[in-house]
Amino acid sequence: DSDLRASIRTIPDYPKKGILFRDITTLLGNPRAFRRAVDELASPWAGSKIDKVAGIEARGFILGGAVAHRLSAGFVPIRKRGKLPHETVRIAYSLEYGVDEMEMHRDAIAPGEKTILVDDLIATGGTAEAAVKLLQGIGAEVVAAAFVIDLPDLGGAAKIEALGVPVRTLVAFS
Ligand code: 5GP
Repeated sequence: DSDLRASIRTIPDYPKKGILFRDITTLLGNPRAFRRAVDELASPWAGSKIDKVAGIEARGFILGGAVAHRLSAGFVPIRKRGKLPHETVRIAYSLEYGVDEMEMHRDAIAPGEKTILVDDLIATGGTAEAAVKLLQGIGAEVVAAAFVIDLPDLGGAAKIEALGVPVRTLVAFS
């Protein structure tokens, strides 16, 4: 069926002991749940002009690509360092262990273009915060950040809203 919460599989102790991993491959593989997730992520902006949807590698590509199509917007990949062939802008961000870097093409979004950021899940918000800063740094107008899953106990949404970006989430796991 199309119930989003029921379509998400929970895997205990992945990728390490004590973590409850929320697996969205079961949502993606369920035709009605996938359609519903994409429609609900996009619905607040149906009929308004959105220029770009930016998706975070890798699960954000699947959802963001579909949301971009739904809104007749362009799609912009935000990738791990070293994957993009043209001139990039880059930002470092903290992970649980150490730091990582993400980047996007400098010319992917023109200043002032209305952009929605999409990823599958927001936890601490560190990943999305870096992506918003990257987008804002090249002058994109980030009108929202949208996620299928929120882990509200980790405070990520508040971190993004502090950057002036409203957050939309569909399912919360506490
Ligand atoms: P944050 O930076 O908000 O702490 O972590 C969010 C990032 O980690 C997202 O890119 C998300 O895909 C990934 N992530 C962390 N935990 C999970 C999880 O339980 N399930 C999935 N699908 N992704 C997760």
